Amino acid sequence: MLTREKERILIVDDEKMNLKVLADLLQDSYTLILATSGEQALKRIAEGNTPDLILLDVVMPVVSGYEVLKRLKENESSSQIPVIFVTALDSPEEEERGLKLGAVDYITKPFSPPIVRMRVQNHLRFLHQFRLLEQLALLDGLTEIPNRRQFDELFKKEYARALRNGTALSVAMIDVDFFKQYNDHYGHAMGDTVLQKIANTLELSLMRPADSVARYGGEEFVMILPETDAVSAAAVAERARKAVAKLSICHQNSDVTNVVTVSIGITTSFANRNTSKEKILQQADRNLYRAKFNGRDQVVG
Ligand code: GH3
Ligand code: MG
Ligand code: MG
Repeated sequence: MLTREKERILIVDDEKMNLKVLADLLQDSYTLILATSGEQALKRIAEGNTPDLILLDVVMPVVSGYEVLKRLKENESSSQIPVIFVTALDSPEEEERGLKLGAVDYITKPFSPPIVRMRVQNHLRFLHQFRLLEQLALLDGLTEIPNRRQFDELFKKEYARALRNGTALSVAMIDVDFFKQYNDHYGHAMGDTVLQKIANTLELSLMRPADSVARYGGEEFVMILPETDAVSAAAVAERARKAVAKLSICHQNSDVTNVVTVSIGITTSFANRNTSKEKILQQADRNLYRAKFNGRDQVVG
């Protein structure tokens, strides 16, 4: 998402001539998708042909540009696509109506080609910056893995999916052992580096694309393992625990051993009416507590 491929622009106009003028203007810089009616535009988007920006004519037979925009806004997957109206309707009332519906801009025909190009460029730049910020807002600043906010979103989504499909959902709570003592002995900056290394190691210990690990807070991490039963979850957690120990980060003040270790509490559930996201997290937390109580550097499920 952050890589700069050619942006995709959907141009919608029932007049083939208008379509051609805009296409000629933009085809060198962007990947274009063309539609000659509102229905066709909606169909293209429904097919998964999602553009980064839409240039939309207003007056079209059957489904008008206003109607297209309304329908795009109703759908979560298309509601964020910026729409610029390009129309011969040049009254302030029409412009106001278009902008009120949520269009980002309103260009009247006949238009000046360089101005259209610049406006398109500007809107795509805003979009790019917005996406960048959106991504940054979901990552933990220190470790660059998903933060608590992204975890909450992911967990909600995976819980709903498990509920829908009746599949097992496992969660692992991971906490660094005697980390306060680590900071006290080696300093907070070294502690930060350890957290970065652990985050990286945990991420590398995941094998399936649907698995994820986030920084839950402080020196605590959390894994979501969708469609994973208790036996597999235990195997993943054990692999992660070993990988952290194998980093062999000296920790003279640990009461477990002489390197940095983690304790892990896991839980597996089949989502149903008696479970809840909160209960699952509580159970993982209880097991983490038991792992700590039993001597740390271990997995309890
Ligand atoms: P336990 O084995 O029971 O988990 O002991 P602990 O010392 O790890 O647990 P405790 O909750 O007492 O201390 C957590 C420590 O983690 C204290 C806090 O300073 C440290 N910590 C939390 N967030 C960060 C961080 O971002 N950077 C660093 N360097 N340390 C952090
Ligand atoms: Mg802790
Ligand atoms: Mg700890």
